[in-house]
This record gives sequence, C-alpha cells and structure tokens, in this order.
Amino acid sequence: MAASVVTHVEIFKLNIGLLEPFQVAIGTLRHATNILVKIHTSDGLTGLGEGSPIEFIVGESQASDFEAARALARLLIGKNPLAIQERMNEMDAFLVGSPAVKCALDMALYDLLAKCAGLPLYALLAGEKIAIHTCKTIGIDRPDIMARRAAEVKNSGFPAVKVKVGTDRVEDVRRIRAIRQAVGDGFPIRIDANQGWDPPEAVLALRDLARFDIQLCEQPVAHWNHAALKHVREQSPVPIMADESLFDDHDAFKLACMGACDLFNIKLAKAGGIRTAAKIDAIAQAAGIRCMAGCMIETRLGLSATAHFVSAHPNVQFADLDSVFVLAEDPVVGGITYDGGLVSLPDTPGHGADIDPNFLAGLESITVTG
Ligand code: MG
Repeated sequence: MAASVVTHVEIFKLNIGLLEPFQVAIGTLRHATNILVKIHTSDGLTGLGEGSPIEFIVGESQASDFEAARALARLLIGKNPLAIQERMNEMDAFLVGSPAVKCALDMALYDLLAKCAGLPLYALLAGEKIAIHTCKTIGIDRPDIMARRAAEVKNSGFPAVKVKVGTDRVEDVRRIRAIRQAVGDGFPIRIDANQGWDPPEAVLALRDLARFDIQLCEQPVAHWNHAALKHVREQSPVPIMADESLFDDHDAFKLACMGACDLFNIKLAKAGGIRTAAKIDAIAQAAGIRCMAGCMIETRLGLSATAHFVSAHPNVQFADLDSVFVLAEDPVVGGITYDGGLVSLPDTPGHGADIDPNFLAGLESITVTG
C-alpha cells in the first residue's frame, strides 16, 4: 500500500462575534477572528485544526495568518502527514514564530494521526480519559458588576472563577473585595493582570490582594521582563503564573532556570500546537512547575484538542477552557461537552470536533494544492 500523503489543504477565515466586548488590561476583544485548516490526505482522511491569533498577544492577525497558512500548507503537499515532528520542523525552519497559525496546522496533523490510528487524541497521546474542570473568566468592569458575575460563575457549577485585573491597582482591590464578598470564603479566585502592572505596583497589589485568598496570579508584569517577573514572585504572597512570558519550550526553559514563576499557563496558540506544548510540560515537570491549560478565543474545536492534551498530561492540573462561553455562536459539531465547569471528552477518533458544513460553506477560504 502506498504511503498516505497530503493532497490539499483548505484554509478558512473563522469569524464569530462575542456576546459582548471582553476587556482585559491590555485590550478589548470584540470578535474571534480565527484560522481553521483542513488537511486532506491521499487515503481520504481529513484533519482539522484551529488557531486563534489575538494580535496584541501573539503578534499575528487573521490576515497575516491566512497568508502564512497558505505558504506553510505548500510545505505539506505530497508529504507524509504522520511525521509530525519533521513536518513542524520544516515549518519552523521556513517561518520563525507565528505560533497561532502553526497551532492550527499542528492540531490538524495530530487529528489526522489519531484518526489514522483509530484512537481518540488523548489515547494517541498516551493519556487516560479524565474529568476536566474548567474555571470561567470574567472581564474587567465595575466592582459590583464583576461581583454579580462571579456569583453567577459559582452558582453555575464552576470550580473556580478567574478575574481579569491590571488596569488600576486601587480599583483592582475594590473589584476583588467585592468578588470575595459575593462568592464567600473558600471559593477559589484566580486573577490575571495581563501585564497591566509595573513591577512595584505588582508587588503592592499582590500584597494587598493576598488577604482575599487568591489562588494564583497570571502575568503581573510585561511579557518581556523576566527579571521583573522573578522579582515579583520573590516579593509576592500569591503564587505567580507565567502566561504572555511563556510561548514555547525555549521560554519555559529560561523561566524555569531563572526561577521566575511558580506556574505555567500553556496555550496551544502560543506554543504552536500540541508538539511544543508537550515539550513545555516536560520542562515544567522536570522543574517542579505545575501547569494550567488556557485558551485564546477558540471555538469548541480548538478547545477539544486542548482538552485531549490536558487529559494526557497529568502535570497540567488546572484548566481554563472557557472561550466557548463568550462566543455568540457555536458552529462545532462533536467535540467536548460542558456541564457547568465539567468538560467531557468524546471517544471518537481524533479530537472528535468538526465544523457544521452549512457554517463552513459561508466562510472565506482558499485551497492549497501545491
Ligand atoms: Mg492570562
């Protein structure tokens, strides 16, 4: 039997509005402007992958990723899609960075590999199916509004609330005080400053906020300032999680060697997909750093692939797979399902998620054949 090769790759602009604008310290999100790829092989299999480029985090846009995907897809034509290490090495040699678009292609290749093996992705990744519990995130707003939303998160069955902060240190204390009053003692509150504080502010804020029993704080300072991240970690009573400072395995190695953080937030769209996400988790394990799996604004398709990754990586102990709750539409068929904060994985081969063909037919797309 002839070896299977990639015959063509479809690339789609996957646009979905948000239910309402979502504010974080460094910007406001209004739409998901994602990239979807569908890789076809000579034996009739297809693999699907999604990348979610948030410009002010990854430096890519849907427009730049559409062009990048076209060039990267050409590298795949006529080649063995199951040799993911080599295929991704070729992409990395051709184009530095651009992790969100590479994430879409990597995810589609893993989907293909798992379908070829007849295994759900978590099993292909040598994992056992686990129950995943995701927190739910609330954006920056007035303290009373955020408090009401935090209570709703708790009452909807989520095991923790994640709260965006980082615009104003004094107002952040008001926000978290109101939220702690609303959810009561003992309910886990995670905060995310999205680089919004400068280093002295971050130390003051975290010392102030610690009395409200904060489980962890993501990215208190600028992404490039690893030295400041380490300084804040040393001064903070709240555990520090690297997010925007941590894209790939090289960042993971540097942060671990420096002792710059307590925890890692792994996102497939920052890492360039599952292959590198697994490398990050291996470095984290060796350094005694526990991980969370996070998301950008993926649909349930990208979130399904992430959930499979979580299920196969026991050191990933926290999940923040909540972007589906801010999207105005869910065009995904199959894939993970939610019951409050409980995420259940499908047992179909691959990641198990597809896009409704009627929705797909309405998207701008190109097909790369060589
Ligand atoms: Mg974050």
